Amino acid sequence: MDLPTKYIFVTGGVLSSLGKGLSSAAMGALLESRGLTVTIQKLDPYINVDPGTMNPFQHGEVFVTDDGSETDLDLGHYERFTNAKLSCDNNFTSGKIYHSVITKERRGDYLGGTVQVIPHITDEIISSIKLVAAGVDVVIVEIGGTIGDIESLPFLEAIRQCHTDLGKDNVIYIHLTYVPYIKTAGEVKTKPTQHSVKELRGIGIQPDILLCRTDRYLSAKIKAKISLFCNVSEDAVITAKDVKNIYEVPLGFHKEGLDKKIVELLNIWTRAPQLDELKAFIKKSESVKHKVTIAIVGKYVDLTESYKSLNEALYHGGVANDSKVNLIYIDSETISADSCAQDLMEADGILVPGGFGKRGIEGKICAAQYARENKIPYFGICLGLHIAVIEFARNVILLQDANSEEFDQKTPYPVIYLMKEWFDAKTGTMQRRDVTSAKGATMRLGAYPCQIKKGTLAYQAYGVDSISERHRHRYELNNTFRDQLESHGAVIGGVSPDGELVEIMEIKDHPWFLGCQFHPEFKSRPMNPHPLFRDFIKAALLNSKDSVD
Ligand code: GLN
Repeated sequence: MDLPTKYIFVTGGVLSSLGKGLSSAAMGALLESRGLTVTIQKLDPYINVDPGTMNPFQHGEVFVTDDGSETDLDLGHYERFTNAKLSCDNNFTSGKIYHSVITKERRGDYLGGTVQVIPHITDEIISSIKLVAAGVDVVIVEIGGTIGDIESLPFLEAIRQCHTDLGKDNVIYIHLTYVPYIKTAGEVKTKPTQHSVKELRGIGIQPDILLCRTDRYLSAKIKAKISLFCNVSEDAVITAKDVKNIYEVPLGFHKEGLDKKIVELLNIWTRAPQLDELKAFIKKSESVKHKVTIAIVGKYVDLTESYKSLNEALYHGGVANDSKVNLIYIDSETISADSCAQDLMEADGILVPGGFGKRGIEGKICAAQYARENKIPYFGICLGLHIAVIEFARNVILLQDANSEEFDQKTPYPVIYLMKEWFDAKTGTMQRRDVTSAKGATMRLGAYPCQIKKGTLAYQAYGVDSISERHRHRYELNNTFRDQLESHGAVIGGVSPDGELVEIMEIKDHPWFLGCQFHPEFKSRPMNPHPLFRDFIKAALLNSKDSVD
């Protein structure tokens, strides 16, 4: 007989940034290593329908899934740590829940009734949770925010009800809390944890397992104290110690007995966890022999959360090349043609990541020119492709003031433009857009097929002629300029199946210069590094004289 789907609800206490997303992902990895199938869902308490319209300064990276959903960056952790296939159903915000309830109310679905948080909103949340359960053994649901926030109350009420709704044998609650070491007292303190659990119990949720984030291992005495005050068994008090490398988190949890406790509480029989591959990856990453320096020339350089997947993909590409990757973030607003050589002196490779808006564009163009002329490996991602095309048009084809319509609507040479009409291979329909189109969820989003041309850097990397990568952009390369680009030494390395959308541009006579219209960083995995990142790092390494000291 098939077991019913089991549910793990993960909440956070005391303060934010304790690593709830990573912990949920690591739990998923451990359960998969025992042979279970898992999925992970994030419930976010804010009102935006999705994070797509939010500034990366506020919210960090927007992670894009294959189906084109713009989601929370924690979904990036989930995908990097597990094999779960994530979609729009893996991320719900309060806005999305309310939007759906209000749409139903307007349609008349609740005619005669007063629509309320309980039961209408909570029922909607519970149905959203159940949406991802089909075909998986365990659903992990992470609740965003911290216990005590007003905003997350409907979500907490909904997961409280799940205990009865889904069956008490099928549900456990895991609470991530903080156990600080107080220097002046010379000991760790459990009071914040006690208060946080008290607050959670006030809402009606008794945690089954406590993940205690701390900078040191908790002694048996401390665990016993937490156990006593929080009504959790001693072996369910898990030390979540700080780690140097995030991929060590599952190993640390396993050592503390987390996966054993989870399967015991959920009453599932599994094989022993198989963690050899992950252990080998950690070992390899700790003994790399080389060092390479990559300059990321972007706008959100003060906040590395904005480039989460990018940083991870570079790290994966580094390990694959037996190399440490030293990242230097350069604010493109501070670069000019005169300062470029100085600013980028240390860079063995230059990367211009995705981005929106005009600010810092000219600095990025200078960086691309510097990379092209000095034969420094260049990797342009989405906006980074646009930058490479503008630079090439201006300085090689000599189209003065060539630009993207995104930055200059009156440019005489709109080499990047808003394509008014294009065939969408994903939906099989013609798409139309202009400057008045709505901003939310209207970009070219999610996985699109791309045909790779033989003999290109892209073909060398992928080794196949047909790929699928994820997109998130409005503007495209203008086909009017394609012949000119090619006759001046640019190579169109990849196009959509109908040949109309340029997906990759490279340039000849350069060690490695590639811009792509998609975001390869979303698909890189520690044990399966993305081929473009791997080859970019390889090319940068050839340009580097450093090795790990
Ligand atoms: N701003 C550009 C566009 O919308 C590039 C987007 C991106 O880099 N993701 O087309």
